[in-house]
Amino acid sequence: MRVAVVGAGPAGLYTAQSLVDAGALVDVIDRLAAPYGLVRYGVAPDHMRMKSVVKVLRKPFTASDAGFIGNVTVGQDLSLADLREHYHAVVYATGCPLDRSLGIPGEDLTGSIGSGRFVGWYCGHPDVAGFTPPLEDPGAVVIGAGNVALDVTRVLAVSPDRLRATDVPDPVLAALAASRVRDIHVVIRRGPWHARFTPAELRGLGELDNTRVLVHDDGTLTRADPAGLDLRQRQNLQILREWSAREHGSGDRRIHLWFLRTPVALRGDDRVHRVVVERTRVEHDRVVATGEQDTLAAGLVVRAIGYRSGPVDGLPFDTVTGTVPNERGRVAPGLYVAGWLKRGPSGVIGTNKADGAETAAAVLEDLPHLSDPAHSATEHLRRVLDQRGVRHTDWPGWLRIDAEERHLGSSRGAERIKVCRRGAMVRLARAAHFAST
Ligand SMILES: Cc1cc2nc3c(=O)[nH]c(=O)nc-3n(C[C@H](O)[C@H](O)[C@H](O)COP(=O)(O)OP(=O)(O)OC[C@H]3O[C@@H](n4cnc5c(N)ncnc54)[C@H](O)[C@@H]3O)c2cc1C
Repeated sequence: MRVAVVGAGPAGLYTAQSLVDAGALVDVIDRLAAPYGLVRYGVAPDHMRMKSVVKVLRKPFTASDAGFIGNVTVGQDLSLADLREHYHAVVYATGCPLDRSLGIPGEDLTGSIGSGRFVGWYCGHPDVAGFTPPLEDPGAVVIGAGNVALDVTRVLAVSPDRLRATDVPDPVLAALAASRVRDIHVVIRRGPWHARFTPAELRGLGELDNTRVLVHDDGTLTRADPAGLDLRQRQNLQILREWSAREHGSGDRRIHLWFLRTPVALRGDDRVHRVVVERTRVEHDRVVATGEQDTLAAGLVVRAIGYRSGPVDGLPFDTVTGTVPNERGRVAPGLYVAGWLKRGPSGVIGTNKADGAETAAAVLEDLPHLSDPAHSATEHLRRVLDQRGVRHTDWPGWLRIDAEERHLGSSRGAERIKVCRRGAMVRLARAAHFAST
């Protein structure tokens, strides 16, 4: 039985592993020539231990039970109908690639970007190759209260030397070394006890060289009652209380944590210069604006307020939740979803394991009743791609990119340095295997 999994992120790969374990033949298709989704292009470079999960994620490919078809965008290079002609079942695990927007005036000014773009920059994502965020002004604003907001903040404050041993591209290190950003304002709508970030990420801000952390809480920290809070919230509260009781850290960079503030407008001429924030209070779990406004100077604004998926060709879509309606991963017999596309952008990498297993179980339940596809060989699909002029890649091709990145890394004492240009990745991937085509 042949299954196509669209998306080689954690959800797609955990699903593929469960299917392979049950004896199915699986092809994993990704729009990039590199697998691993946000593990490669989202997890912060200094979280190297987290990235070692790739040793588990690559398993379906190591025993040749699964194939990898890279540099193929489903919905553009291949349609759902094409996939149905080649596979008994199709699983979409394409994640939530779009940044949520604030819906406030000035949001589209130059210098205001979504965290997807900023994270893509420091992670060397091919979609943003050549982009550099504006780092010339002393002020930067990060909007959001989750771990991604803190990742962005940390990267803006960190000494580039601390990133030399990671996989960040050289131009990112150079841009951070030349950065004039000194005050990083993190704007958080709710109070300190509501923040979604984890204590480990929060603590990370206090461990940066040359950086002070200043907590602006309007006195709410002292009033907050830890009773009724969960462990994560209590630990966050404790760290913040320690920091607000005395100035934390030293140096010429400052991270300002502004609680109970919501951005209401971005101001500037051709590019952003200021962010207008309004003070808030939380009443019966609702955020209420007070009308009192402050202004923060910033040449860079990063919105880290979450991600969403867009509609996927051929699948139903719930515009409110930004997910594909499904029953334990099943959209219809023969059609399934997994990961963030299935449940929305929440949870950690490991959450996708049980999620993928659930989807795989739904596929396996239906497989005996699904009709045979018209074509039963991956080679046929690859020929279709050739005819359409699509420069598809494979697993050995990814291993060549991997080897080149490790080689580049050795010159800097890093495990790898990413190859960022799509063309260069595809050339490397197709270098030997496809030499005759
Ligand atoms: C910035 C950031 C940092 C994070 N850091 C951590 C962390 O430190 N620890 C942690 O546990 N979790 C972290 N997470 C969460 C974790 O990355 C997610 O839980 C996980 O990646 C979701 O898996 P997924 O497979 O659903 O989506 P993704 O990882 O986004 O994978 C989707 C895949 O689908 C491919 N794709 C998309 N569209 C198409 C198409 N049309 N055709 C073919 N392929 C397509 C993409 O290229 C991608 O490879 C982070 C998330 C973000 C955004």
